[in-house]
Amino acid sequence: MKFHLQTFGCQMNVYDSESIAGILRAYGHETVSTVQEADIALINTCSVRRGAETRVLGQLGHLKTLKSRGIIRYIAVCGCMAQKHGEDLLKERGYIDLILGPAALSRLPCLLDRLENHDGPIVELSQLDIEDRDDFVPNDGPISYPCFVTIMKGCDRRCSYCVVPDTRGPERSRSPQNVLDEIRGLVDRGYREVTLLGQTVDSYRYDNTDFVGLLEKVNAIEGLRRIRFATSHPADANERLLFALRDLEKVCEQLHLPVQSGSDRILAAMRRDHTREDYLRIIDRLREIFDGISAAHQPAISTDLIVGFPGETESDFEETVDLMRRVRWDSAFMFKYSIRPGTYAATLPEHLDEETKARRLARVIDLQHETSREINQRLIGETLEVMLDQPSADKRKHSGWDGRSRQGKTVKVAGVSPDAQPGDILCVRITKTTSYTLFGDVVSYSVR
Ligand code: SF4
Repeated sequence: MKFHLQTFGCQMNVYDSESIAGILRAYGHETVSTVQEADIALINTCSVRRGAETRVLGQLGHLKTLKSRGIIRYIAVCGCMAQKHGEDLLKERGYIDLILGPAALSRLPCLLDRLENHDGPIVELSQLDIEDRDDFVPNDGPISYPCFVTIMKGCDRRCSYCVVPDTRGPERSRSPQNVLDEIRGLVDRGYREVTLLGQTVDSYRYDNTDFVGLLEKVNAIEGLRRIRFATSHPADANERLLFALRDLEKVCEQLHLPVQSGSDRILAAMRRDHTREDYLRIIDRLREIFDGISAAHQPAISTDLIVGFPGETESDFEETVDLMRRVRWDSAFMFKYSIRPGTYAATLPEHLDEETKARRLARVIDLQHETSREINQRLIGETLEVMLDQPSADKRKHSGWDGRSRQGKTVKVAGVSPDAQPGDILCVRITKTTSYTLFGDVVSYSVR
């Protein structure tokens, strides 16, 4: 069967989509690049924000039209929205043929067989339990970066606004052996960098191996050059992790540490299990550990922020703005709070109007934009180690390659040799910067 796969949402979904594609190809199915060529359109969905669900519903409407015209035969909805809405999704949209939760992906080939035998529509929502922690399907597609490796699934925290514990189940870590085997396989295929994924990656634990223990094992893999990880939770970010960022040579100097709000009152309502002070203590300690190290090797710190959480006053919001000025993140993912039905936050009084939320969001975006611009500007004249991702897509604007520094910043590189490959590591002198991008010229080639 020819399949087309579209992914919405987070890095975890990107990884799951690679697994879906890998398992379907292993069973003789063929990926196609446009949905019009496909027999089955699969959508890997996200429920974290209302906007993501709205986009999925819009796409489903488009697929319904294609199916009614006989252009595609089946529509499958996978991932968090499938798990969360299950049968209801099917009741409301009878044209869907298959609904599949995130823990049931490995059953996809046999479910496609059932569809072919007119055994649909099918709803397959597996138990999200401890048993499915070690299943993974090797990524067999063309080499592209970033390359994600899920090391754990689910989440045991109960942030009051979040649906993840319900859609992805309790936290369960994969065995170190299983993770190392997957990464060694990727290195054999030519990958030089991996990003280890988990909802709270720093709470990873399998028997006696904690997250830093796992990082040490991955760091020892021959042929691998870079390791990144996301997402860390402040309550699990310990001193050893901060030292690992400095001392394990393959671990890149990049920490994504969501704070969500600068107000302790709102953090408590969010049930974040950390305070503003806890967060600042981690950031200050990290900067102390990196004290004396050149600008080119300072860690890049990023965060997630939610503005307009129920009950957020102007003074709570000002505390978030104040925290932004205090921490000076390299970058931030910033969102307006959106109601997620079924969460505790949805039941809270004092939901804010859209105008207030939009105004607050615009303000934090402006401030972050300015901070990112200033931080990046200081890198002009520095030489950074850049790993190439791919030739720049917009040849009119930039004829070189896109790559990333160890800090995870996008670098547009000029003067790359014609036989360059994704994964090559170059030394690049930075000549120009914006808030989001660095530009530079090759100074020298490192090892491939
Ligand atoms: S830590 Fe909180 S926000 Fe992150 S996945 Fe778990 S419950 Fe959701």
